[in-house]
Amino acid sequence: MDEITDVATLRARLRAERASGRSIAFVPTMGYLHAGHLSLVGAARDAADVVVLSAFVNPLQFGPDEDFERYPRDGARDRELARAHGVHIFFAPSVAEMYPESSELRVTAGEVGSRLEGAVRPGHFDGVLTVVAKLFNIVAPDVTCFGQKDIQQVTLVRRMINALDFPIRLVVVPIMREADGLAMSSRNVYLSRSERTTALALWRGLHAAERAWHAGERQADRLRALVEHELGTEPAIAADYVALVDPHQLLPVAQADAGAILAVAARVGRTRLIDNIIFGPPGA
Ligand code: AMP
Repeated sequence: MDEITDVATLRARLRAERASGRSIAFVPTMGYLHAGHLSLVGAARDAADVVVLSAFVNPLQFGPDEDFERYPRDGARDRELARAHGVHIFFAPSVAEMYPESSELRVTAGEVGSRLEGAVRPGHFDGVLTVVAKLFNIVAPDVTCFGQKDIQQVTLVRRMINALDFPIRLVVVPIMREADGLAMSSRNVYLSRSERTTALALWRGLHAAERAWHAGERQADRLRALVEHELGTEPAIAADYVALVDPHQLLPVAQADAGAILAVAARVGRTRLIDNIIFGPPGA
């Protein structure tokens, strides 16, 4: 595995891969890798010859009161995990390498970026799309892998790929969960033992809604109520939203047809957690 920290070296290395006829799959991350990230690596290996993983905590996507400074980082461990899982190129640039000039220029996520997470984290998705567009231009992959865990990010990256004509195929990878159902996240390390137990209410609620959907329930308010009920059983949870939305505009829908997304965000102590399910036949 090559470890690269500067853009020029990465571009030169990838030029050589392309010249040899090899296809490139790209997995952007903020590091502190877990099994969710590694399932993206597996999908990337299936999709192309060369797997590039970036680990970069992007300051542009953090609000002033958010956790940019304390976001967990462990470069040595990340490199070991990436190497063991078949990543070919590990790209870990510094902030100065990614943003050599201070610039206010952003890719704007627009209306779709102001809903759900965007309503709670103003500007977040402008920061996300700006760094993803930069990384797409640097890596110029054939395929990129993103996780369903960040479903609004998936929707917006898909829209950006279409709107800006990036010739990149987007692969969406299902959510990896701990054995008890908690969606894997780098931020789970913030949870105390009791918060970790409390956090399970998100999955209990989504799982209940999933079971109800398979039993024939389609009404949005009833499906949402199942999640709200589970969150309500935990006084230490503060819900930000429980939303049933369509997958393209992320606008509320009254009826959960296949493809509709049930998304939840909640705070447990100082930690903000998100999770979702997409209704449909298993594995669809
Ligand atoms: P992050 O490092 O949190 O920015 O995540 C990098 C990529 O990994 C994003 O595409 C995430 O959606 C994806 N990801 C994060 N957690 C999971 C998970 N539990 N299962 C699958 N993919 C995930």
